[in-house]
Amino acid sequence: MLTGLDGQRYHFDAGVFCLELLLTGGPGPIGEAYEILFKPDDLAEWLLDSRLNDTAPVRREDLDITESDLAHVTQFRNALWHAAEAMAKGQAPEKSHLEVINGAVGEPPRPQIDVATLQRHWAAPITGRQIAAMAAREAIDLVGSTRLRQCAGDNCALLFLDTSRPGKRRWCSMERCGNRNKVREFRSRSGATS
Ligand SMILES: [Zn+2]
Repeated sequence: MLTGLDGQRYHFDAGVFCLELLLTGGPGPIGEAYEILFKPDDLAEWLLDSRLNDTAPVRREDLDITESDLAHVTQFRNALWHAAEAMAKGQAPEKSHLEVINGAVGEPPRPQIDVATLQRHWAAPITGRQIAAMAAREAIDLVGSTRLRQCAGDNCALLFLDTSRPGKRRWCSMERCGNRNKVREFRSRSGATS
């Protein structure tokens, strides 16, 4: 669930972890308005509800995020924001942003299976550098993807990977920008006939 600056709450699926990370804030006025990563604990808290849980449950005690990790993750995130936005618009990302992404690639968090219980868990500790490393690897997979999109809504900067089978997703959320567009199309149609 996301909450817009206007207070509306809506579902948003970024499709992939690295783009979900862009929901924690970013560069420029829009990113700063949504910034939530001010201290290491903020990143840890956010990870508890992230799609990292799709692989194995994330426990607070398994996360070890330092101040320097946080700076590393936010620098990576801001570079990814610029690069992903450029690619979604069909433009070439800036070299400096790609270099930050390349530099973040490394050892990702390691999922494990408990041999006795067959339960999945993460090898502890999960560090901030590992988080950036995982996201950086995914980000590199996005290069050249025709499924990397920016919401077609006015004043909406949300980026997502379209994982739908038809591959025609245009909106961050049908509840938000999709619905606004429907209302606008309806108004312009009824305006033309009356
Ligand atoms: Zn949108």
